Amino acid sequence: MSEIRHNWTKEEILAIYNKPLMELLYEAATVHRLHHDPNTVQVSTLLSIKTGGCPEDCGYCPQAARYHTDIEGNDLMSVQQVKAQALRAKSSGSSRVCMGAAWRNVKDGPEFDNVLEMVRTINKLDMEVCCTLGMVTENQAKRLAEAGLYAYNHNLDTSEDYYKDVISTRAFEDRLDTIANVRKTNVTVCSGGIIGMGEALEDRAGMLVALATLDPQPESTPINALVAVPGTPMEEIEPVSIWDMIRMVATTRIVMPQTQVRLSAGRTDMSREGQAMCFFAGANSIFAGDKLLTTPNPDVNEDMKMFELLGLTPMKPFVKKAQPETVEAKDSNLQPLGEKPKWTRPGHTIERNEEARLTRSK
Ligand code: SF4
Repeated sequence: MSEIRHNWTKEEILAIYNKPLMELLYEAATVHRLHHDPNTVQVSTLLSIKTGGCPEDCGYCPQAARYHTDIEGNDLMSVQQVKAQALRAKSSGSSRVCMGAAWRNVKDGPEFDNVLEMVRTINKLDMEVCCTLGMVTENQAKRLAEAGLYAYNHNLDTSEDYYKDVISTRAFEDRLDTIANVRKTNVTVCSGGIIGMGEALEDRAGMLVALATLDPQPESTPINALVAVPGTPMEEIEPVSIWDMIRMVATTRIVMPQTQVRLSAGRTDMSREGQAMCFFAGANSIFAGDKLLTTPNPDVNEDMKMFELLGLTPMKPFVKKAQPETVEAKDSNLQPLGEKPKWTRPGHTIERNEEARLTRSK
């Protein structure tokens, strides 16, 4: 039960997902206790350092430029702004700051240099630093590592089969390529996905096969529930049930015993009781802060009250892996190469956004 397997099949994972709930919970909680302190939960703060205007067409995302949402776009934040937000996050119990930029891929240049400086600044605050900046090359991943990055997030989102129904501007293999580039460094990998996008149970299992068969498995895996934002192609999808979330968390815990399983988007729709069951089923990380990039999230004080009620303690930073060193820009051995990550362009087929816009304007 405690071994790490990299040969999971979709059938095996589906069989776990569909177990009688009490049996599933018992098994997941047992695996969880073998690998983690069940009363400790990592608290991360997600910060949108550059919002909106993204050229990709992820069907769930209000930041895609082609959709007509109420998101206010913002240019890249300054290093000082990011530092102030990180200090605030630290004082309210976060051990990690995850900086998200709505980019297709990282481009070498002054903006990326600023992001590297943000990484250095937060690492020096003794917090874990994570970035989610889109696709990266090996050289860019190495430069992030050199600045002191602890984790890089790049979600698989869903199964390989369902992927083309969600995103048409890049392919599933492109995601895997970026993860492989990050793996060439000491930076840990954060990768997960979203449920409730109209996928079949086989797709949830398929996503977990793709994650669990990575060797090593991702150090952290966010499990998001779709937040259907008006103006996106998925605006009319009904919220996923809490039972599906609990089953997904428990199954993730069983197939990836050592991974930090993170409750992410969709937590505002979950009761405390529902979240408690997710923690019991093996979730041991949450995103804190009143916003997750652009969608709402529970208030930090409410989260701390929930922690008190459940006897949970926020995890300290660098428990799983030592703090990386920061190399200053002037001492860097790595030069920008000006390359772009290679990606496939499978064709743009997700045009439901236009339909959504016309319906709303009637
Ligand atoms: S999820 Fe990321 S890559 Fe996709 S549209 Fe949104 S910001 Fe762009």
